[in-house]
Amino acid sequence: MSRAFNFCAGPATLPEAVLKQAQSEMLDWRGTGMSVMEMSHRSDEFVAIADKAEKDLRELAGISDDYAVLFMQGGASSQFSTIPLNLLGDKASADYVNTGVWSKKAIAEAKRYGSVNVVASSEDSGFSTIPDQAAWNTSADAAYLHYTPNETIGGLEYDFIPESGGVPLVADMSSTMLSRPLDVSRFGLIYAGAQKNIGPSGLVVVIIRKDLLGKARKETPTMMNYQVIAENGSMYNTPATYSWYLAGLVFEWLKEQGGVQAMAEINARKARKLYDFIDGNDFYANPIDPRFRSWMNVPFTLADDALNGDFLKGADARGLLNLQGHRSVGGMRASIYNAMPEAGVDALIGYMAEFAKERG
Ligand code: PMP
Repeated sequence: MSRAFNFCAGPATLPEAVLKQAQSEMLDWRGTGMSVMEMSHRSDEFVAIADKAEKDLRELAGISDDYAVLFMQGGASSQFSTIPLNLLGDKASADYVNTGVWSKKAIAEAKRYGSVNVVASSEDSGFSTIPDQAAWNTSADAAYLHYTPNETIGGLEYDFIPESGGVPLVADMSSTMLSRPLDVSRFGLIYAGAQKNIGPSGLVVVIIRKDLLGKARKETPTMMNYQVIAENGSMYNTPATYSWYLAGLVFEWLKEQGGVQAMAEINARKARKLYDFIDGNDFYANPIDPRFRSWMNVPFTLADDALNGDFLKGADARGLLNLQGHRSVGGMRASIYNAMPEAGVDALIGYMAEFAKERG
């Protein structure tokens, strides 16, 4: 068996050690005679698995008791509506920053529930930069300020946490969660779809400051009501048990790697190598303002789009998979999340150099 280097943006590669552990526990989890997939979510065994995952995540991300950690379903996209339903309260509007495809989706969904004030947008630049916060048109009376720290498709990442004054700051951390240390206390709510740095798809982790619970509109579906989910330990209904277990294994793996500080050093190095190579080679280009280049998603184009097919074919043949860029932007994209080993980035750079030499 040989594992490829999978550069998919999500579902993304998982640590091999985690998959092996899941494999070894698949038929019989620690003498219970059953797979975690088959356990009652109310069983002592599963409750212990769930509690351990939450505890490890709290430790890794530095989440204090002022915050509830929720393991919800429906992916990050369901949060685009869950957030306004829960947080708009009696406020007239919410503030949103538009930096790309995922911000836009969040904005479009929030507009169904209230008035949205787009405080800044980098659309004019083709979403190649982050608008300077000094020029944001924020409102001190907004229900919350929403932004997307890492735009997975554009490969655009904030290098700062916005100042939101007394307004709760809400962040879609789907593709940057746990990639580096984070001051959680700056946020009202953080959410992250699991399928990049956390585990299997479907699961979405929500970290919410407890004073923001209990503000949901009356018509909010029960399954989307943060207070209900928090009061029931994310087990109001049957949670995504296997995904939760796998996320727990990923958290344990992260702790063994030295936590998010150690990951940050490796991630910074992986990203720097790849961008340095792209910048140093006339055949490849990355369109993003260097200050705001994503550590996790690296889009790049070839000097001639007509060569894209050959590039991908050669990459596949070398076990470098899923490098095609998102259909909305074209070109290539290498997603290099926590679980992508540095050797994968080295192999990609080696192939890119070879291809440019032969075909450039
Ligand atoms: N936000 C961001 C930043 C994403 O990258 C994604 C998925 N690529 C989503 C939201 C949507 O996630 P999901 O498919 O889990 O709904």
